[in-house]
Amino acid sequence: MNTIEKFDSRVMHTYGRLPVVLEKGNNCTAVDEDGKEYIDFGSGIGVSSLGFCNEKWVKAVCEQARTLQHTSNYYYTKVQADFADRLCSAAGYKSVFFGNSGAEANECAIKIARKYSFDKYGEGRNTIVTLVNSFHGRTIATLSATGQDSFHNYFFPFVGGFVHTPANDIAALHKLLDEDKSICAVMFEFIQGEGGVIPLDRDFVTAVDVLCRERDILTIADEVQTGMGRTGALLTSQLYGIKPDLTTLAKGIAGGVPMGACLADEKCADVLVKGTHGSTFGGNPLACAGGNAVLDTITEKGFFDEVQRKGLYITEKLLDIPEVSGIDGMGLMLGVRLRTKKAADMLTAAANKGLLILTAKEKLRFLPPLTISYDEIDKGLAILKEILSIGG
Ligand SMILES: *Cc1c(COP(=O)(O)O)cnc(C)c1O
Repeated sequence: MNTIEKFDSRVMHTYGRLPVVLEKGNNCTAVDEDGKEYIDFGSGIGVSSLGFCNEKWVKAVCEQARTLQHTSNYYYTKVQADFADRLCSAAGYKSVFFGNSGAEANECAIKIARKYSFDKYGEGRNTIVTLVNSFHGRTIATLSATGQDSFHNYFFPFVGGFVHTPANDIAALHKLLDEDKSICAVMFEFIQGEGGVIPLDRDFVTAVDVLCRERDILTIADEVQTGMGRTGALLTSQLYGIKPDLTTLAKGIAGGVPMGACLADEKCADVLVKGTHGSTFGGNPLACAGGNAVLDTITEKGFFDEVQRKGLYITEKLLDIPEVSGIDGMGLMLGVRLRTKKAADMLTAAANKGLLILTAKEKLRFLPPLTISYDEIDKGLAILKEILSIGG
């Protein structure tokens, strides 16, 4: 049995996988079992933010593994203290809860929002508004939060207390917040990632911020995909000029070790108290060591400017390809609209030629390592251009 046969005989078939078996990698270049090289424009869905096997990151994680790999949260570790302190300071938040994934980070934010309201207003004020076409995770609660009907199947009953409103429709949101007195929070992605790389309008984001503040309704920014430098700032909220009450992070936060985080500002920093939430692996020393290495790197002077510059460079080059009709997104989170071809049909051809790339709805999606070099960008784009030119 080869690797793919063995894998498919045992691992549940929950993904449409490409027939590529990756063995090792360096920065933006991956190598498969046969020694074939690939330029990686996906970074494991925005996770390997420093690329494969970044030296500083490897050193931090390996040294931590050799020293202390896990303790449970009944004890303190310096590495978790350091990461929490540095992350909160850099992001401008008061406190953090660590979990292991984006869905868990969002579960934490949902629990904080409901308890904040319960503590202050009592029962019944527990509805969370999310946006149509959003994506918030795969647990039952975060699926319920996800504003796409295609996710609300099979697993009934879903969790109550979520309502969906169209993105960028200020009037609809205003009406909803005025009419439904059970609302305790509004949760949104600045750029809908899985929904197709669709940025929210600035006016809408400002309106969410103002309307919620007036009503003591919490704002929850799901920055699981957009956070940690992806769009050319530590948090995308900084680019939109607002400060959500809660911000959730995961994906690139620890450079490839599983970690999720829920950041809370003054208002809800102390809502969760002893016994109200937990996670066995949360804040695990290996993950925190990886997180520290990511923070060290992305907060270096000029790093975010460079992410923006690379994003603009890719955008310019892509717009020269006749098949490309437009680009959406910010920094190194880009969605590419195609004129005639189906993005999903491009994945196999790309992999055959040595390029790993993602799709989001009908678009090609770029989420390369933030450390991608211009040489790697050029190599990957040359392959993409070739594929997009086949057959006219
Ligand atoms: C990926 C993603 C999630 C889910 O993260 P997991 O780590 O897969 O649980 C949630 N929200 C957004 C915006 C995401 O992109």
